[in-house]
Amino acid sequence: QAKLTGRNQYHFFDSHLDEEVRTHHNQRTEVRHALVNGELRLHYQPKVNMRTGAVVGMEALLRWQHGQRGLLSPAQFLPLVEQTDLIIDIGEWVLRQALWQMQRWSAAGRQWVVSVNIAARHFQQPDFVLRLKTILGEFPGVRASMLEIEILESSALHDVEHVRRIIRACQALGITFALDDFGTGYSSMSYLKRLPADIIKIDQSFVHNMLNDRDDLHLVRAVIGLARSFRLTVIAEGVESIAHGERLIELGCDLAQGYVIARPMPADLVQGWADNFVAPKQWRAASYAEDQ
Ligand code: C2E
Ligand code: MG
Ligand code: MG
Ligand code: MG
Repeated sequence: QAKLTGRNQYHFFDSHLDEEVRTHHNQRTEVRHALVNGELRLHYQPKVNMRTGAVVGMEALLRWQHGQRGLLSPAQFLPLVEQTDLIIDIGEWVLRQALWQMQRWSAAGRQWVVSVNIAARHFQQPDFVLRLKTILGEFPGVRASMLEIEILESSALHDVEHVRRIIRACQALGITFALDDFGTGYSSMSYLKRLPADIIKIDQSFVHNMLNDRDDLHLVRAVIGLARSFRLTVIAEGVESIAHGERLIELGCDLAQGYVIARPMPADLVQGWADNFVAPKQWRAASYAEDQ
């Protein structure tokens, strides 16, 4: 290479860095092959109303069925590609796969709202909304109002005005918007006012510790209060025990997702799961205590 800059030269001659760069490059190539070769999968995790037991929707969660390493979770491969355009191709695959699945469920009489996670780099593309509209058009059996988009609260903070316009444009199509991992992105009240989301998802780390950590309990309560005053829907993630659910219901949060309800599962198991799901009786008996 004739045109090496000083910095690249450094990389070029430092064998350790060079190797690291090469490894990352190879790993990204592997992820691209996974996409092209059809090794990516979506699993679905139900969202339920704990008091009524109603299934309100599903979250689509990405997996990689790796030839040698088995089923990989997003944390094992998405960080490698989140800063590259590959995340856009993966995101569009996820959208199509989820819409296709919704169309099948819908034909079977299951009108489940499905949410997909979209990376910051993807939804901030100038043509994101236009391409989304095109993709939606490929699935005439699905109404846009059945699609929900989850973005990380933290990813919305860096250019609030731009994100606000994207959310508005998606809502104009009928799509709902959720702020994921809420509470971890240091959102202030004024941000929430400027981000016209429909749904807040309380981050699982706060939910996880809320029964033994006062600070996390206060945080969960504050987020629920915030959601109520902004008239947003609030859902708790990472609900792992019946006791967590009872406490959340007392605090005014009825919607939940978590292992005590169901783990993420392949699409073909979802209908059977839904036919058999009954909310724990403690949840059906619990109610919102106004004087918390
Ligand atoms: P997330 O969107 O906040 O999804 C919730 C994560 O918590 C999922 O992990 C889910 O399996 C896990 N979870 C659900 N219930 C419980 C519980 O009761 N206890 C515990 N400990 N965990 C629970 P997963 O599937 O490994 O996904 C991790 C993250 O990867 C997601 O967090 C999301 O940010 C990202 N992700 C997943 N799928 C996609 C995708 O298609 N595209 C993009 N860009 N990101 C994705
Ligand atoms: Mg999510
Ligand atoms: Mg989350
Ligand atoms: Mg998360």
